Amino acid sequence: MITEPASSSGAPSAGAPGGRAAVELENVTKRYGDVTAIEDLDLRVEDGEFLTLLGPSGCGKTTTLRLIGGFEAPNRGEIRIGGEDVSSQPAYKRPVNTVFQQYALFPHLSVSRNIGYGLKHAGTGREETARRVDEMMHLMQIPDVGDRRPRELSGGQQQRVALARALVMNPKVLLLDEPLGSLDYKLRKDMQFELKRIHREVGVTFIYVTHDQEEAMTMSDRIVVMSNGHIEQDATPAEIFDRPRTAFVADFIGDTNIVHGVVTRIENGHVTVDLGPLGEIGGSTDDAIVSGDRVRVSIRPTDVRVETGPSGGAVVQDSVLVGGHIAMKITSGEETVVAHVGRGSSFEPGSDVRLHVESDRIRVFAADQPEVAAEQAAADQS
Ligand code: ATP
Repeated sequence: MITEPASSSGAPSAGAPGGRAAVELENVTKRYGDVTAIEDLDLRVEDGEFLTLLGPSGCGKTTTLRLIGGFEAPNRGEIRIGGEDVSSQPAYKRPVNTVFQQYALFPHLSVSRNIGYGLKHAGTGREETARRVDEMMHLMQIPDVGDRRPRELSGGQQQRVALARALVMNPKVLLLDEPLGSLDYKLRKDMQFELKRIHREVGVTFIYVTHDQEEAMTMSDRIVVMSNGHIEQDATPAEIFDRPRTAFVADFIGDTNIVHGVVTRIENGHVTVDLGPLGEIGGSTDDAIVSGDRVRVSIRPTDVRVETGPSGGAVVQDSVLVGGHIAMKITSGEETVVAHVGRGSSFEPGSDVRLHVESDRIRVFAADQPEVAAEQAAADQS
């Protein structure tokens, strides 16, 4: 493989503390019997931020959200909202509201009365309730459905009512637990932009839980990637994509190739790795790596260029059309690399090719980092 020198990354730094924290978790541990759902978790969410907890099923996202909402109590650690320790406060006393995947609207009440339900029970006057419900319906862009019952609305409209019902209470923090999970793909994409707009307009802190990395990348100011009850990386979407801190994050966010090699040189944080038949490659790392170490290297399929010419020992195994690009599976020695190329630039299976990588997104990870999800699944099956 021919590689070009990687320049230093210009990725922005992670959501640095400095503003006012809306929510803080300090050393929080939650166990269910023998299962440790989250362990020694530290998390700080800035005021007005859209923060997403992202990770595979069972990593502890919902538990973290439920701890903030007061639906669970931690075994250890402290939870603060707006600077106040709420660790032992019940859910109804906390200045937060939650939107769940199942919106649980009252079927026998009209949309207006669903949205105004909490205000009514808080003793808000009739006129004030009507004004705030109307304001919410305009914000959600459903101004004309106030008299309908929930069953007379589409899925997307029902989700807007659930959001309105939570936001009308003026929470300091809105917790969203996979709220778009039951919508179809197209509607989910539309609602992602809608949620971003609503967040901008109301300025409330949003903490969002999802296992969908694309959803997290689209909406968030900051993403916290979780695995096995701990935080793998806490950074902006761009930094998480361009400079994943671990092989787990590289594999979970977007498509990537994880290939194996040995470090031949380290200079000013730039690592050169011998990938065997794939040649040499340069990348960046956050790990303590020395020359001679075995490492894993993450290469995004969009960063691999496939060229014709004298064979570099790489052979095209498969070539399939995926939407707007062609995904080519290429083997070289023991390694398989996927390249995403334009529709006019693919090669037939069986072609001898050369691979050329040009990117400052190449990341190098110590081999002793925990296995990435795909490798682990393959090992579990064998
Ligand atoms: P998902 O995306 O599937 O909802 P998650 O990342 O939100 O997953 P959690 O629901 O927080 O994960 O669960 C974390 C761990 O805690 C899992 O191993 C889960 O089985 C366990 N767990 C969660 N709630 C309970 C409970 N009430 N009793 C026992 N174990 C639980």
